[in-house]
Amino acid sequence: MKILVINAGSSSLKYQLIDMETEAVMAKGLCERIGIDGHLKHTPLVGGKPVFNEDVPMPTHSEAIAAVIDKLTSAEYGVVGSMKEIDAVGHRVVHGGEKFASSVKIDDEVIAAIEECIPFAPLHNPANITGINACKAVMGDVPMVAVFDTAFHQTMPGKAYMYAVPYEYYKNDGIRRYGFHGTSHRYVSARCAELMGKPIEELKIVSCHMGNGSSIAAIDHGKCVDTSMGFTPLVGLPMGTRCGDLDAGVIQFIMNKYGYSIDEMLNILNKKSGVLGVSGVSSDFRDLDNAAAEGNDRARLALDMFQYWVAKVAGSYVAAMNGVDAIVFTAGVGENSKETRAAIAKYFGYLGVTIDEAANAKRGEDVMISTPDSKVKVFVIPTNEELVIARDTRDIVG
Ligand code: AMP
Repeated sequence: MKILVINAGSSSLKYQLIDMETEAVMAKGLCERIGIDGHLKHTPLVGGKPVFNEDVPMPTHSEAIAAVIDKLTSAEYGVVGSMKEIDAVGHRVVHGGEKFASSVKIDDEVIAAIEECIPFAPLHNPANITGINACKAVMGDVPMVAVFDTAFHQTMPGKAYMYAVPYEYYKNDGIRRYGFHGTSHRYVSARCAELMGKPIEELKIVSCHMGNGSSIAAIDHGKCVDTSMGFTPLVGLPMGTRCGDLDAGVIQFIMNKYGYSIDEMLNILNKKSGVLGVSGVSSDFRDLDNAAAEGNDRARLALDMFQYWVAKVAGSYVAAMNGVDAIVFTAGVGENSKETRAAIAKYFGYLGVTIDEAANAKRGEDVMISTPDSKVKVFVIPTNEELVIARDTRDIVG
Protein backbone atom coordinates (compact mmCIF):
# COMPACT_ATOMS: atom_id res chain seq x y z
CA MET A 1 0.00 0.00 0.00
CA LYS A 2 1.31 3.46 -0.93
CA ILE A 3 0.08 6.50 0.94
CA LEU A 4 0.47 10.16 0.05
CA VAL A 5 0.80 12.37 3.14
CA ILE A 6 -0.20 16.00 2.64
CA ASN A 7 0.46 18.95 4.91
CA ALA A 8 -1.21 21.96 3.28
CA GLY A 9 -0.51 25.51 4.44
CA SER A 10 -2.05 28.69 3.10
CA SER A 11 0.57 29.15 0.37
CA SER A 12 2.61 25.95 0.69
CA LEU A 13 2.09 22.21 0.56
CA LYS A 14 4.47 19.55 1.87
CA TYR A 15 4.14 15.93 0.84
CA GLN A 16 5.63 12.48 1.23
CA LEU A 17 4.77 9.28 -0.59
CA ILE A 18 5.28 6.37 1.80
CA ASP A 19 5.45 2.67 0.93
CA MET A 20 3.66 1.01 3.85
CA GLU A 21 5.27 -2.40 3.22
CA THR A 22 8.61 -0.96 4.37
CA GLU A 23 7.48 2.41 5.78
CA ALA A 24 10.14 3.93 3.52
CA VAL A 25 9.63 7.41 2.05
CA MET A 26 9.61 7.00 -1.74
CA ALA A 27 9.55 10.71 -2.54
CA LYS A 28 9.03 13.97 -0.71
CA GLY A 29 8.63 17.56 -1.69
CA LEU A 30 7.40 21.06 -1.13
CA CYS A 31 5.19 23.38 -3.19
CA GLU A 32 5.71 27.02 -2.30
CA ARG A 33 4.23 30.38 -3.29
CA ILE A 34 0.86 28.84 -4.18
CA GLY A 35 -1.49 31.62 -5.30
CA ILE A 36 1.49 33.90 -6.01
CA ASP A 37 3.49 32.19 -8.76
CA GLY A 38 4.52 28.69 -7.66
CA HIS A 39 7.64 26.60 -7.07
CA LEU A 40 8.03 22.85 -6.66
CA LYS A 41 10.93 20.97 -5.14
CA HIS A 42 10.38 17.25 -5.64
CA THR A 43 12.90 14.76 -4.28
CA PRO A 44 12.61 11.10 -5.35
CA LEU A 45 14.25 8.82 -2.77
CA VAL A 46 14.04 5.52 -4.66
CA GLY A 47 15.07 4.53 -8.18
CA GLY A 48 17.96 6.99 -8.48
CA LYS A 49 15.78 9.66 -10.13
CA PRO A 50 16.95 13.31 -10.13
CA VAL A 51 15.55 16.12 -8.00
CA PHE A 52 13.10 18.51 -9.68
CA ASN A 53 13.47 22.06 -8.40
CA GLU A 54 11.74 24.62 -10.62
CA ASP A 55 9.01 27.22 -10.85
CA VAL A 56 5.62 25.75 -11.78
CA PRO A 57 2.52 27.96 -12.08
CA MET A 58 0.22 27.29 -9.09
CA PRO A 59 -2.72 29.71 -9.04
CA THR A 60 -4.46 27.41 -6.50
CA HIS A 61 -3.74 24.27 -4.45
CA SER A 62 -5.33 22.17 -7.23
CA GLU A 63 -2.50 23.02 -9.63
CA ALA A 64 -0.03 22.28 -6.82
CA ILE A 65 -1.51 18.80 -6.24
CA ALA A 66 -1.65 18.20 -10.01
CA ALA A 67 2.05 19.13 -10.25
CA VAL A 68 2.89 16.78 -7.37
CA ILE A 69 1.00 13.87 -8.98
CA ASP A 70 2.62 14.67 -12.31
CA LYS A 71 6.11 14.46 -10.79
CA LEU A 72 5.32 11.35 -8.70
CA THR A 73 4.20 9.52 -11.84
CA SER A 74 6.51 11.01 -14.51
CA ALA A 75 9.08 8.91 -16.35
CA GLU A 76 11.92 11.27 -15.43
CA TYR A 77 11.20 12.08 -11.76
CA GLY A 78 8.53 9.55 -10.81
CA VAL A 79 8.49 6.75 -8.26
CA VAL A 80 5.18 5.11 -9.27
CA GLY A 81 3.76 4.19 -12.67
CA SER A 82 0.42 5.97 -12.34
CA MET A 83 -1.89 7.74 -9.89
CA LYS A 84 -3.79 4.44 -9.42
CA GLU A 85 -0.81 3.15 -7.40
CA ILE A 86 -1.50 5.76 -4.71
CA ASP A 87 -3.97 3.91 -2.49
CA ALA A 88 -4.91 6.65 -0.06
CA VAL A 89 -4.11 10.18 1.11
CA GLY A 90 -3.51 11.24 4.72
CA HIS A 91 -3.99 14.92 5.53
CA ARG A 92 -2.56 16.79 8.47
CA VAL A 93 -5.33 18.94 9.93
CA VAL A 94 -4.40 21.39 12.66
CA HIS A 95 -7.61 21.74 14.65
CA GLY A 96 -10.25 19.12 15.36
CA GLY A 97 -11.76 20.93 18.36
CA GLU A 98 -13.61 18.62 20.75
CA LYS A 99 -15.13 16.73 17.81
CA PHE A 100 -12.12 14.61 16.94
CA ALA A 101 -10.21 12.56 19.50
CA SER A 102 -8.68 10.39 16.79
CA SER A 103 -8.10 10.30 13.04
CA VAL A 104 -11.09 9.84 10.71
CA LYS A 105 -11.92 8.96 7.14
CA ILE A 106 -12.81 12.15 5.29
CA ASP A 107 -16.35 12.59 3.97
CA ASP A 108 -18.59 15.64 3.54
CA GLU A 109 -19.63 15.55 7.19
CA VAL A 110 -16.00 15.52 8.34
CA ILE A 111 -15.15 18.42 6.04
CA ALA A 112 -18.09 20.35 7.51
CA ALA A 113 -16.84 19.59 11.03
CA ILE A 114 -13.32 20.78 10.13
CA GLU A 115 -14.95 23.93 8.74
CA GLU A 116 -16.73 24.42 12.07
CA CYS A 117 -13.30 24.47 13.76
CA ILE A 118 -12.06 27.35 11.55
CA PRO A 119 -12.67 30.00 14.25
CA PHE A 120 -10.17 28.10 16.45
CA ALA A 121 -7.48 27.94 13.73
CA PRO A 122 -8.33 30.68 11.24
CA LEU A 123 -5.02 30.41 9.37
CA HIS A 124 -4.53 26.64 9.33
CA ASN A 125 -7.87 24.85 8.97
CA PRO A 126 -8.94 26.73 5.79
CA ALA A 127 -5.60 25.76 4.21
CA ASN A 128 -6.07 22.14 5.29
CA ILE A 129 -9.56 22.08 3.76
CA THR A 130 -8.19 23.61 0.56
CA GLY A 131 -5.65 20.78 0.42
CA ILE A 132 -8.37 18.16 0.91
CA ASN A 133 -10.58 19.69 -1.79
CA ALA A 134 -7.65 20.00 -4.19
CA CYS A 135 -6.87 16.29 -3.73
CA LYS A 136 -10.51 15.43 -4.35
CA ALA A 137 -10.50 17.51 -7.51
CA VAL A 138 -7.32 15.96 -8.87
CA MET A 139 -7.45 12.42 -7.47
CA GLY A 140 -11.18 11.70 -7.60
CA ASP A 141 -12.52 9.25 -5.02
CA VAL A 142 -9.22 8.03 -3.57
CA PRO A 143 -9.86 7.41 0.17
CA MET A 144 -8.60 10.22 2.42
CA VAL A 145 -8.01 10.44 6.16
CA ALA A 146 -7.67 13.49 8.43
CA VAL A 147 -5.13 13.37 11.25
CA PHE A 148 -5.51 16.18 13.78
CA ASP A 149 -2.78 18.00 15.73
CA THR A 150 -5.22 18.42 18.61
CA ALA A 151 -6.62 14.86 18.78
CA PHE A 152 -3.97 13.30 21.06
CA HIS A 153 -4.64 15.93 23.72
CA GLN A 154 -8.37 15.21 23.91
CA THR A 155 -7.72 12.81 26.82
CA MET A 156 -6.75 15.75 29.07
CA PRO A 157 -9.05 15.97 32.11
CA GLY A 158 -11.17 19.07 32.71
CA LYS A 159 -8.87 20.25 35.49
CA ALA A 160 -6.07 20.50 32.91
CA TYR A 161 -7.92 21.90 29.91
CA MET A 162 -10.21 24.45 31.55
CA TYR A 163 -9.33 28.13 31.85
CA ALA A 164 -10.45 29.79 35.06
CA VAL A 165 -12.76 32.23 33.27
CA PRO A 166 -16.59 32.22 33.45
CA TYR A 167 -17.78 28.73 32.53
CA GLU A 168 -20.12 30.06 29.83
CA TYR A 169 -17.14 30.78 27.58
CA TYR A 170 -16.31 27.09 27.59
CA LYS A 171 -19.91 25.93 27.25
CA ASN A 172 -21.02 28.40 24.60
CA ASP A 173 -17.81 29.15 22.73
CA GLY A 174 -15.45 26.22 23.24
CA ILE A 175 -12.85 28.36 25.01
CA ARG A 176 -10.45 25.83 26.58
CA ARG A 177 -6.97 24.49 26.13
CA TYR A 178 -6.69 22.19 23.11
CA GLY A 179 -2.94 21.73 22.69
CA PHE A 180 -0.99 21.15 19.46
CA HIS A 181 1.88 18.99 18.15
CA GLY A 182 -0.25 16.00 19.23
CA THR A 183 0.90 13.79 16.37
CA SER A 184 4.54 14.39 17.32
CA HIS A 185 3.97 13.78 21.05
CA ARG A 186 2.07 10.60 20.18
CA TYR A 187 4.85 9.32 17.92
CA VAL A 188 7.76 9.96 20.28
CA SER A 189 5.97 8.66 23.38
CA ALA A 190 5.04 5.41 21.61
CA ARG A 191 8.58 5.07 20.30
CA CYS A 192 9.99 5.78 23.75
CA ALA A 193 7.94 2.90 25.18
CA GLU A 194 9.24 0.63 22.40
CA LEU A 195 12.82 1.63 23.16
CA MET A 196 12.25 0.95 26.86
CA GLY A 197 10.74 -2.43 26.02
CA LYS A 198 7.63 -1.70 28.09
CA PRO A 199 3.96 -1.17 27.24
CA ILE A 200 3.19 2.55 27.16
CA GLU A 201 0.32 1.77 29.56
CA GLU A 202 2.96 1.22 32.27
CA LEU A 203 4.91 4.44 31.74
CA LYS A 204 4.85 8.10 32.69
CA ILE A 205 6.50 10.15 29.97
CA VAL A 206 7.27 13.86 29.56
CA SER A 207 7.62 14.66 25.87
CA CYS A 208 9.45 17.89 24.94
CA HIS A 209 8.85 19.00 21.32
CA MET A 210 11.38 21.81 20.92
CA GLY A 211 11.46 23.40 17.48
CA ASN A 212 10.55 26.76 16.09
CA GLY A 213 7.26 26.13 17.88
CA SER A 214 7.63 24.24 21.15
CA SER A 215 5.36 22.36 23.49
CA ILE A 216 5.59 19.80 26.26
CA ALA A 217 3.12 16.99 26.97
CA ALA A 218 2.56 14.86 30.05
CA ILE A 219 1.70 11.33 28.91
CA ASP A 220 0.45 9.16 31.75
CA HIS A 221 0.03 5.48 30.88
CA GLY A 222 -0.27 6.35 27.17
CA LYS A 223 -2.80 9.15 27.61
CA CYS A 224 -2.03 12.84 27.37
CA VAL A 225 -3.00 14.46 30.68
CA ASP A 226 -1.58 17.94 30.13
CA THR A 227 0.19 20.02 27.52
CA SER A 228 1.69 23.49 27.41
CA MET A 229 0.00 24.99 24.35
CA GLY A 230 -3.53 26.19 24.88
CA PHE A 231 -6.48 27.58 22.97
CA THR A 232 -3.89 28.61 20.36
CA PRO A 233 -0.25 27.64 19.81
CA LEU A 234 0.88 31.01 21.22
CA VAL A 235 1.34 29.97 24.83
CA GLY A 236 3.39 27.75 27.10
CA LEU A 237 7.11 27.96 26.46
CA PRO A 238 8.82 30.98 24.91
CA MET A 239 9.36 29.91 21.28
CA GLY A 240 11.23 31.09 18.18
CA THR A 241 8.95 34.11 17.71
CA ARG A 242 5.96 33.36 19.99
CA CYS A 243 5.76 34.78 23.47
CA GLY A 244 4.60 31.76 25.47
CA ASP A 245 2.79 32.38 28.75
CA LEU A 246 2.00 36.03 29.33
CA ASP A 247 -0.03 38.09 31.77
CA ALA A 248 -3.04 39.52 29.88
CA GLY A 249 -2.35 42.80 31.69
CA VAL A 250 0.83 43.20 29.63
CA ILE A 251 -1.26 43.14 26.47
CA GLN A 252 -3.58 45.84 27.76
CA PHE A 253 -0.64 48.00 28.92
CA ILE A 254 1.28 47.81 25.60
CA MET A 255 -1.86 48.33 23.48
CA ASN A 256 -2.89 51.39 25.47
CA LYS A 257 0.58 52.93 25.58
CA TYR A 258 1.43 52.44 21.88
CA GLY A 259 -2.07 52.60 20.42
CA TYR A 260 -1.90 49.14 18.83
CA SER A 261 -4.93 47.32 17.48
CA ILE A 262 -5.49 43.76 18.69
CA ASP A 263 -4.22 42.47 15.33
CA GLU A 264 -1.01 44.49 15.64
CA MET A 265 -0.56 43.24 19.19
CA LEU A 266 -1.10 39.60 18.23
CA ASN A 267 1.33 40.02 15.35
CA ILE A 268 3.96 41.16 17.87
CA LEU A 269 3.19 38.25 20.21
CA ASN A 270 3.20 35.66 17.39
CA LYS A 271 5.97 36.90 15.13
CA LYS A 272 8.25 39.29 17.02
CA SER A 273 8.44 37.79 20.49
CA GLY A 274 9.95 34.62 21.96
CA VAL A 275 13.72 34.17 21.74
CA LEU A 276 13.77 36.56 18.74
CA GLY A 277 12.15 39.33 20.77
CA VAL A 278 14.31 38.84 23.84
CA SER A 279 17.62 38.44 21.98
CA GLY A 280 17.04 40.89 19.13
CA VAL A 281 19.27 38.47 17.19
CA SER A 282 17.26 35.65 15.62
CA SER A 283 14.50 33.10 16.11
CA ASP A 284 16.93 30.39 15.00
CA PHE A 285 18.58 28.60 17.89
CA ARG A 286 21.80 28.08 15.91
CA ASP A 287 22.19 31.85 15.52
CA LEU A 288 21.51 32.29 19.23
CA ASP A 289 24.12 29.67 20.16
CA ASN A 290 26.67 31.48 17.98
CA ALA A 291 25.77 34.94 19.30
CA ALA A 292 25.87 33.72 22.92
CA ALA A 293 29.29 32.14 22.30
CA GLU A 294 30.48 35.53 21.04
CA GLY A 295 29.36 37.14 24.29
CA ASN A 296 25.92 38.49 23.31
CA ASP A 297 24.14 38.76 26.67
CA ARG A 298 20.62 38.98 25.29
CA ALA A 299 21.13 35.85 23.18
CA ARG A 300 22.38 34.13 26.36
CA LEU A 301 19.33 35.39 28.26
CA ALA A 302 16.94 34.12 25.58
CA LEU A 303 18.55 30.67 25.63
CA ASP A 304 18.56 30.61 29.45
CA MET A 305 14.86 31.54 29.49
CA PHE A 306 13.98 28.81 27.02
CA GLN A 307 15.87 26.13 28.94
CA TYR A 308 14.44 27.31 32.26
CA TRP A 309 10.89 27.18 30.92
CA VAL A 310 11.30 23.68 29.51
CA ALA A 311 12.63 22.50 32.89
CA LYS A 312 9.89 24.34 34.79
CA VAL A 313 6.99 23.03 32.70
CA ALA A 314 8.45 19.50 32.53
CA GLY A 315 8.85 19.58 36.32
CA SER A 316 5.23 20.61 36.75
CA TYR A 317 4.21 17.58 34.68
CA VAL A 318 6.27 15.29 36.89
CA ALA A 319 4.18 16.69 39.74
CA ALA A 320 0.96 16.28 37.74
CA MET A 321 1.72 12.59 37.06
CA ASN A 322 3.22 11.97 40.52
CA GLY A 323 6.43 10.75 38.94
CA VAL A 324 8.12 10.17 35.61
CA ASP A 325 9.88 7.24 33.94
CA ALA A 326 11.24 8.94 30.84
CA ILE A 327 11.80 12.38 29.34
CA VAL A 328 11.98 12.69 25.55
CA PHE A 329 13.48 15.48 23.45
CA THR A 330 12.39 15.94 19.83
CA ALA A 331 12.04 18.43 16.91
CA GLY A 332 14.69 20.79 15.48
CA VAL A 333 16.25 21.99 18.73
CA GLY A 334 15.54 18.83 20.73
CA GLU A 335 17.05 16.56 18.07
CA ASN A 336 20.06 18.70 17.19
CA SER A 337 21.27 20.83 20.09
CA LYS A 338 23.25 18.77 22.58
CA GLU A 339 24.05 21.93 24.53
CA THR A 340 20.36 22.74 25.02
CA ARG A 341 19.60 19.16 26.10
CA ALA A 342 22.51 19.07 28.53
CA ALA A 343 21.54 22.46 30.01
CA ILE A 344 17.92 21.37 30.51
CA ALA A 345 18.94 18.00 31.93
CA LYS A 346 20.95 19.80 34.66
CA TYR A 347 17.65 21.02 36.08
CA PHE A 348 16.54 17.37 36.41
CA GLY A 349 19.21 16.50 38.98
CA TYR A 350 16.48 16.19 41.65
CA LEU A 351 14.98 13.35 39.59
CA GLY A 352 18.27 11.45 39.62
CA VAL A 353 18.90 12.19 35.93
CA THR A 354 22.48 11.82 34.72
CA ILE A 355 23.47 12.34 31.08
CA ASP A 356 25.95 10.26 29.09
CA GLU A 357 27.96 12.87 27.16
CA ALA A 358 28.98 10.51 24.35
CA ALA A 359 25.36 9.41 23.79
CA ASN A 360 24.19 13.03 23.94
CA ALA A 361 26.65 13.90 21.17
CA LYS A 362 24.96 11.49 18.70
CA ARG A 363 22.65 12.89 16.02
CA GLY A 364 19.96 11.71 13.67
CA GLU A 365 18.93 8.53 15.48
CA ASP A 366 16.85 7.29 18.41
CA VAL A 367 19.18 7.34 21.38
CA MET A 368 19.02 7.08 25.16
CA ILE A 369 21.21 9.94 26.37
CA SER A 370 20.95 9.16 30.10
CA THR A 371 23.49 6.88 31.78
CA PRO A 372 22.37 3.29 32.48
CA ASP A 373 22.03 4.07 36.21
CA SER A 374 20.02 7.28 35.66
CA LYS A 375 16.81 6.98 37.70
CA VAL A 376 14.76 8.62 34.95
CA LYS A 377 15.64 7.71 31.37
CA VAL A 378 16.19 10.52 28.86
CA PHE A 379 15.83 9.97 25.12
CA VAL A 380 16.33 11.85 21.88
CA ILE A 381 13.80 10.60 19.33
CA PRO A 382 13.56 12.26 15.90
CA THR A 383 9.88 12.94 15.40
CA ASN A 384 8.01 11.53 12.41
CA GLU A 385 4.55 13.02 12.10
CA GLU A 386 4.23 11.91 8.46
CA LEU A 387 4.65 8.27 9.45
CA VAL A 388 1.91 8.57 12.07
CA ILE A 389 -0.39 10.14 9.45
CA ALA A 390 0.44 7.35 6.99
CA ARG A 391 -0.10 4.60 9.59
CA ASP A 392 -3.44 6.06 10.71
CA THR A 393 -4.49 6.35 7.06
CA ARG A 394 -3.56 2.72 6.42
CA ASP A 395 -5.37 1.53 9.55
CA ILE A 396 -8.54 3.47 8.75
CA VAL A 397 -8.63 2.80 5.02
CA GLY A 398 -7.77 -0.83 5.66
P1 AMP B 1 11.59 22.68 13.70
O1 AMP B 1 10.54 23.71 13.93
O2 AMP B 1 11.34 21.40 14.43
O3 AMP B 1 11.92 22.48 12.26
O4 AMP B 1 12.93 23.25 14.37
C1 AMP B 1 13.54 24.41 13.90
C2 AMP B 1 14.54 24.91 14.94
O5 AMP B 1 15.57 23.91 15.14
C3 AMP B 1 15.27 26.19 14.51
O6 AMP B 1 15.20 27.16 15.54
C4 AMP B 1 16.69 25.73 14.35
O7 AMP B 1 17.58 26.72 14.74
C5 AMP B 1 16.79 24.58 15.34
N1 AMP B 1 17.96 23.77 15.05
C6 AMP B 1 18.22 23.01 13.97
N2 AMP B 1 19.47 22.48 14.05
C7 AMP B 1 20.01 22.95 15.21
C8 AMP B 1 21.28 22.80 15.87
N3 AMP B 1 22.24 22.06 15.35
N4 AMP B 1 21.47 23.44 17.04
C9 AMP B 1 20.51 24.21 17.57
N5 AMP B 1 19.31 24.39 17.01
C10 AMP B 1 19.06 23.77 15.84
